[in-house]
Amino acid sequence: MIRADTIRHSANRGKGERVLAFSRRYRACAAAIAASEWRAFFEAGRLGGKYGNVSRFNAFCGAAPAQMARAQVAAMLGSFLSNRQNEFRETVTRSSLPGDVKHMLHTVNRQKAWFSRDDVILRGGDTPLPEGVRHLARSIMRAVLKRHRRPNARGIAPVLDIRVAKVAPATGTSHGDLWATFRFVGEKAFSIPLHSHAYWRERQGKRCNVLQIVPDQRGFGIRLMTDMAEPFAASRAAYQPRCERVGVDFGLTTLMATDRGDLMGRGFLDAMRRIDRQIVAIARHRMRSGGKPRDSLRYRRLAEQVRGIVKTRINTALNRIVDLHAPAELVVERLDFRMPGLSRRLNRILSNCGRAAFRAKLADLRDRFGVETAEINPAYTSQECSRCGFVSRDNRPSQARFRCVSCGHTAHADVDGAKVIARRRSLGLDFRFTARGQVLAELQRRSGERQGRHHARRGTKASSRQPKPASQRKPVLQGNEAFL
Ligand SMILES: [Zn+2]
Repeated sequence: MIRADTIRHSANRGKGERVLAFSRRYRACAAAIAASEWRAFFEAGRLGGKYGNVSRFNAFCGAAPAQMARAQVAAMLGSFLSNRQNEFRETVTRSSLPGDVKHMLHTVNRQKAWFSRDDVILRGGDTPLPEGVRHLARSIMRAVLKRHRRPNARGIAPVLDIRVAKVAPATGTSHGDLWATFRFVGEKAFSIPLHSHAYWRERQGKRCNVLQIVPDQRGFGIRLMTDMAEPFAASRAAYQPRCERVGVDFGLTTLMATDRGDLMGRGFLDAMRRIDRQIVAIARHRMRSGGKPRDSLRYRRLAEQVRGIVKTRINTALNRIVDLHAPAELVVERLDFRMPGLSRRLNRILSNCGRAAFRAKLADLRDRFGVETAEINPAYTSQECSRCGFVSRDNRPSQARFRCVSCGHTAHADVDGAKVIARRRSLGLDFRFTARGQVLAELQRRSGERQGRHHARRGTKASSRQPKPASQRKPVLQGNEAFL
């Protein structure tokens, strides 16, 4: 459970240049290692892994950095391939292949033996899988790989251990409170001052003997790592949940809403609109002159600003929810963070960084407090009434309001969405692997049953009540695929 903190530095120009020049060599080294790993993967069927021999890459920036680059590349490729492994499994599961072939393909996939030259043997059996199946496994994996760009080893931010970079408290008083000393091969050692912040100083946990260089548009940043395993174990033990679950919905007017009625991150959409106007203007200008928006420094800074705002807002909102309600579990829907009325360009940035920031924060809350996350299928959550379960697009007279046409329940639309999310979870209706149409059918069936019981009760008890005129009667159950 490593946490990284960015620490300000004040390297002078010459030293800054040396750090950047080293980073470039390190990245070239990582790229060369990655290329050789991919070759090994396709030719021999496996990656060299974390401890493979890297002496032939020493020329880039020395032996120790080559080993560190190898470890980073191994982690990067490992997580990339484990995602592809999941996709392979889904592809095979969804396919119409015969059961025994699926079983054999799953075995190849479990052993990551897609391109391996070795025999693959089924559990409990003794004959190797036929070449036809192995061939099929290779084709499926190639198709899966083709859907994704390979991870970019040239974008790796070097992680350096004490053989290359060391952080120590400053002894003088003139500069920062820490010094980072670099020993690059073939160069004289040099140090740059770091200026730590209270958040880092007050962090509990064990300082790791590594430092990360993060090259960016303005030069580079320095990150220091802390191992939080012990303090997090203590905070998890101390955490006392006060309720079973809190439903969280992503709003159109606010960033987040909970089923308790909290609205978090008001003004988020307005902030995004302001940035969007600038992003669209730059993009238009660039396109007219035949360039790409990303070539503009101002554009890249705006995109960076969006990422910063999203991350801060998400962290603040989720921290506040845990603070207020101390749930054992957060219930969320699979989300995409797109907001209406913003450009496609900004929405793409939002959905990429929003998902990543949200996942990271949920993982942080699990590490820190043991708060679990449950995910439910988002189909029709915005049209379902949290009180009676009735589903209709007519339940949404406007983007901000929810008004059930069946029972008359009214609420803030995002809050009702959060209530539906929590309610589905407590009823065990995650619908995690259910198609949209089936979700709707099941919701309608349940809502119909409820209404049936309701009518039966009314019929026996409230015979004196006036029947409603036809125009106010409950409409036929309906759903609309196009609404979401
Ligand atoms: Zn209702």
